[in-house]
Amino acid sequence: MSNEQDLGITASKEHETGDWYAQVVQKAELADYAPMGGFIVTRPRGYALWEAIQDHLDGWFKDSGVQNAYFPMFIPESYLQAEKDIVEGFDPEVAWVTHGGYDELDERLAVRPTSESIITPYISQWVRSHRDLPLRVNQWCSVVRWEATETKPFFRTKEFLWQEGHTAHHDRSDAWDETMLRLDQYERLYTDVLALPPLRGQKPEHDKFPGADTTTTLEVLMPDGKSVQAATSHYLGTSFAEAFDITYLDENEDERTAHTTSWGLSWRALGAIIMTHSDDQGLVLPPTIAPKQVVIVPIWQQDTREEVLGYAEQIRSELAAAGIRVHLDDRDERNPGFKFNEWELKGVPVRFEIGPNEVEDEQVSVVHRPDGETAAEPRENVAETTREHLDTVYAKLYAAAEQHRDENVREAESREEILGTIGQHGGYVKTGWCGTEECEDEIKDQIAAEIVLVPGDEEPIHDSCGVCGESAETTAYFAKSY
Ligand code: AMP
Repeated sequence: MSNEQDLGITASKEHETGDWYAQVVQKAELADYAPMGGFIVTRPRGYALWEAIQDHLDGWFKDSGVQNAYFPMFIPESYLQAEKDIVEGFDPEVAWVTHGGYDELDERLAVRPTSESIITPYISQWVRSHRDLPLRVNQWCSVVRWEATETKPFFRTKEFLWQEGHTAHHDRSDAWDETMLRLDQYERLYTDVLALPPLRGQKPEHDKFPGADTTTTLEVLMPDGKSVQAATSHYLGTSFAEAFDITYLDENEDERTAHTTSWGLSWRALGAIIMTHSDDQGLVLPPTIAPKQVVIVPIWQQDTREEVLGYAEQIRSELAAAGIRVHLDDRDERNPGFKFNEWELKGVPVRFEIGPNEVEDEQVSVVHRPDGETAAEPRENVAETTREHLDTVYAKLYAAAEQHRDENVREAESREEILGTIGQHGGYVKTGWCGTEECEDEIKDQIAAEIVLVPGDEEPIHDSCGVCGESAETTAYFAKSY
């Protein structure tokens, strides 16, 4: 082995967050950097996490009327131009195909940055009467956005994996319910599966998705005090339906224009999990998505090898039979200390240590990955006890993230207070806001914090705008963001 120390994380999460994150991603074998800047190679361990997210969301989507489909990755330029906000919004980030082999194409093809412009025209063909609505399709795919700002594995890459759902409805009310339903499902994913309690709200007018009437969003706070836009669900109004002519005949045979929605969640969710839960020993994963939930490390001397391994194997098969994702690390060439470090680095939530004492006492020694807490548990009913430990580990991760979020929402009533509070603590600062972009820009220019969300239709918390002092229209949450 070249240098065993090189295998572990050598940067501090608190003091060298960027380096630390890059090391966790690579050393826990989640991803490598691709030769082109801003792209990554997703390794099997990283991809497995994405599959776990897919499994949850895809099931919920299908249970609520969504069908999966697949559309081409290229969009003809004329299609992209049909909805003007989309062109303007995405133009600086679009990658173009100009040649097929040696021949220049008659029309440039955009590599999809998002697929409204290629999906909506087909929804238009498939919808004839009110009976065809609502119509819901989703695709799991990658999109390309030539990001100008700094890229970071999973958080912001030029090609990223995501799902994009696209739906058409009779009217505003139906489409709005759909927008909320999908935001609810994303919130459920973050809360119940990823142990990352989000804040939920809307984007300010000037920061909406291009072409949207309303963009709703989830924001998750990272340990370094920056916020992450964790998923978005857009009510698109009739802008795309008008651009691509989604009309239908209602019960009275009158022609009407449909209302559409789109909603997306990307592998940025993985970035948020890694950044929030992991530590200086490496990756920490919620048991809900960990490819292996339990690793059993046997500890033996030559004369006890057989009985220890036999006992460990019995426990392994009992857990596996109960549906627990378990791995018995029976490698001869590695000592237990090496194995502990390796599985800590790779983020297995619960470790069982089994030596001659455990065999004799008919017990297992249980260690929780996030905090090293240990327990001795009886061998009897081991699957049930393991489930309880997995739930406890999840609860610990959730509680820590929730506490961090709750402690980092502060109020401010003046420009100085907003700047000072974000400068000192990071996190969210909520204040009254008059609704103008100029007031946001003032804060942005000075401290690079922006309005990451506004709550729906509640009354503003203060009567006047924290920046200009004019009358407040709404509450704004300022934060630095990824
Ligand atoms: P949008 O279509 O712009 O609303 O994006 C949908 C979701 O994709 C956002 O809420 C982000 O969480 C995520 N996302 C946007 N850009 C990137 C990127 N460059 N890399 C990873 N995820 C992204």
